Amino acid sequence: MNQNEVIKPDVSRIREILDKSLDLQSLSLPEVSALVAVNDSDIWSEIFDAACRVKEKVYGKRIVLFAPLYLSSECTNDCLYCGFRKGNRDAVRKTLTVDEAVEEASLLEARGYKRLLLVASEHPKRAGIDYFEKVVHEIYDRTDIRILHVNAAPMSIDDFKRLRDSGVGVYQCFQETYHMPSYRYLHPSGTKADYTWRFGVMDRAIKAGFEDIGMGVLLGLYDWRWDVTALIAHCRRLIKKYGFGPHTLSVPRLQPAQGSAADHLKYSVSDEDFKKVVALYRLALPYVGVVVSTREPSALRDELFSIGASQVSAGSKTSPRGYMNEGDTEQFEIGDSRSLEEVVGKIASLGLMPSLCTACYREGRSGKRFKSLAEEKTIKTFCHENAILSLKEYVEDYATGEVRDQLVRMLNEEISKSRNGLSDKLKNIEAGKRDLHI
Ligand code: SAM
Ligand code: SF4
Repeated sequence: MNQNEVIKPDVSRIREILDKSLDLQSLSLPEVSALVAVNDSDIWSEIFDAACRVKEKVYGKRIVLFAPLYLSSECTNDCLYCGFRKGNRDAVRKTLTVDEAVEEASLLEARGYKRLLLVASEHPKRAGIDYFEKVVHEIYDRTDIRILHVNAAPMSIDDFKRLRDSGVGVYQCFQETYHMPSYRYLHPSGTKADYTWRFGVMDRAIKAGFEDIGMGVLLGLYDWRWDVTALIAHCRRLIKKYGFGPHTLSVPRLQPAQGSAADHLKYSVSDEDFKKVVALYRLALPYVGVVVSTREPSALRDELFSIGASQVSAGSKTSPRGYMNEGDTEQFEIGDSRSLEEVVGKIASLGLMPSLCTACYREGRSGKRFKSLAEEKTIKTFCHENAILSLKEYVEDYATGEVRDQLVRMLNEEISKSRNGLSDKLKNIEAGKRDLHI
């Protein structure tokens, strides 16, 4: 099909599909394909509006915040698009010691983060499972970070069991592209060259006991319509096989990277198409969290808060030691360099609720349990009240100036509406108690 040619789709069929999403049912592949094929901007406005309503139904006004913590840039792979690739001779390489990882986590804790995503390049000798276990254990032991997620190379079932037992929440890994010829071209050597090993990663993680998994494709490597549909097909296959699918879908989009050898790709994804991807994930799998990183520019991220994103990183650095000491090779360039406090303030100013909550992990509401609570619609109530409690802690311990005043106003409004006896918990937070949740 010529993408410039506007083909009027069957509007009533599209509206039926949107109604199904609004009823919080996941979409079949033909339904996803029908939405993907729409190229009429008026119908896209309706699709965006539906995505916004689905997000509001499942997640309310909450936007969960986190930061990545890069552990390593030493890599045995050569993904052509990445600053850490083996073939980038100019890269300054580093794998954090366990103490340095704790130091970075402490710096983030001092800014108010409670949830971190550990990110690592692939280097089995320097950053294998023994290393991950130590880092996770020491960060939990020596900081107030409450949940660690991991984005690292695919592992064996035995290693995944150890990662899971160390207390990691979500294991995240992106297929990059499902299009095999492109995959082969872009990943010429190292373990990552093995498409099948990567494709089976979530089966192994689930078999090892991970119920919370995060998936994605790197937008810009191949035709986004094809890759997005293939990712949703993969999710549906997992749901059919295991009874649950991904906890989150991320929308990484290709960014310039120092030493990249993939600058010439012809599949770049425009901002408008990027918004479509966020909306499509939201509608295709209504209960899945959609994660938007600081790869994206601030104005676009602000729009996405209302279109379907439910988790966002903020104040991120993409190099090991990035929070202590800027200047080392970054994995890719960042589009939104606002601090956590600035993003918190922006979310609140849009009438949404910034959340630093980790209660589901503290209470074991994850995996299949999360899915059934979400389907009973109870999760929205839990999460809303817990977001208020996490925000109260943020106000007491970290927020300053106008952002603090804005959050105090928001909290007062929310407390007056609350029915779950929050006021006792809030008084306890004022008295110095922490990590309170329902
Ligand atoms: N090294 C592991 C791997 O490749 O699976 C995990 C961490 S890797 C640092 C995290 C993700 O960053 C990759 O899966 C890829 O999608 C993304 N990434 C790599 N280079 C990028 C670039 N130039 N722009 C945007 N995202 C990029
Ligand atoms: Fe290494 Fe991951 Fe970068 Fe590939 S994307 S070069 S595996 S860090």
